[in-house]
Amino acid sequence: MAKMIDGKAIAAEVKAQVAQEVSQLKAQGITPGLAVVIVGDDPASRIYVNNKKKACETVGIYSEEYALPANASQAELLELVEKLNKAPEISGILVQSPLPRGLDEAALVEMIAPQKDVDAFHAYNVGKLTQGRQIFQPCTPAGVIELLRYSGIEISGKHCVVIGRSDIVGKPMALLLLQNNGTVTICHSKTRNLEEICSTADILVSAVGRAGFVTGAMVKPGAAVIDVGMNRDQEGKLCGDVVFSEADKTAGWITPVPGGVGPMTIAMLMKNTVTAAKLQNELL
Ligand code: NAP
Repeated sequence: MAKMIDGKAIAAEVKAQVAQEVSQLKAQGITPGLAVVIVGDDPASRIYVNNKKKACETVGIYSEEYALPANASQAELLELVEKLNKAPEISGILVQSPLPRGLDEAALVEMIAPQKDVDAFHAYNVGKLTQGRQIFQPCTPAGVIELLRYSGIEISGKHCVVIGRSDIVGKPMALLLLQNNGTVTICHSKTRNLEEICSTADILVSAVGRAGFVTGAMVKPGAAVIDVGMNRDQEGKLCGDVVFSEADKTAGWITPVPGGVGPMTIAMLMKNTVTAAKLQNELL
């Protein structure tokens, strides 16, 4: 049986450190603030936003929520982002994805001031990440790196395989593993011999979004298997991409879903909000 990587426990440790930093900042008269913008009534988005607000309360970050109806216009959203860019009490701005059809998410993200872009999705921050000079680490991939670090799993020199090449998970994940001196292979829907490639991975990160995608045959004995996927199984229960019961037999380490990468994403968002507050107060 593989060792379980407990994302909930590690996220709690990260948040405890963030809470300490927040109280130090407050002692200097600085309160980090996060604005969360949610558009429409997607139930999953509502859960994520509530969890983010709860995490802010836990660590002492001030938070504001802007809930707009699904028929909100691009102009309204742009106006809101511009207002938040100028608001001194707001250190970080997050627009909850996905936005309802008809709204241009990419254009909106580009309007967020890069120093308030706590998701690190703005082209400026993506460019910085590519150069290895990032201010903000993209939350989910940074959470994966923390999980590996806390678990004592060396990345340097290891073959790291990332399945998925999205802008929010796969690509930045590959960049962070590369920055940590991993030898990185990125797989996607056009990859040939996917199983064979995955079965040579010392660290296998799956970010596909399909339940049952990673089978036991794709896992190298002793590998660290990190499941970013968040899916619903046939009974409607939350599950990842990995067939846990199979991978668990071969892997050295494995993350559960829920309780793996998910809580880390939120913990890293808290960390980025503190970084943003420091940046805006010339403490970085
Ligand atoms: P996405 O934008 O849909 O990207 C999925 C990726 O998987 C794409 O690059 C796609 O390849 C690849 N893929 C699809 N079918 C494949 C196949 N048969 N073989 C190989 N690759 C295949 O999704 P995302 O936003 O990156 O999210 C991925 C998953 O992570 C989702 O389940 C999402 O809910 C979850 N997620 C979790 C967290 C968290 O905090 N735990 C955060 C963000 C996302 P192509 O590029 O070729 O189409």
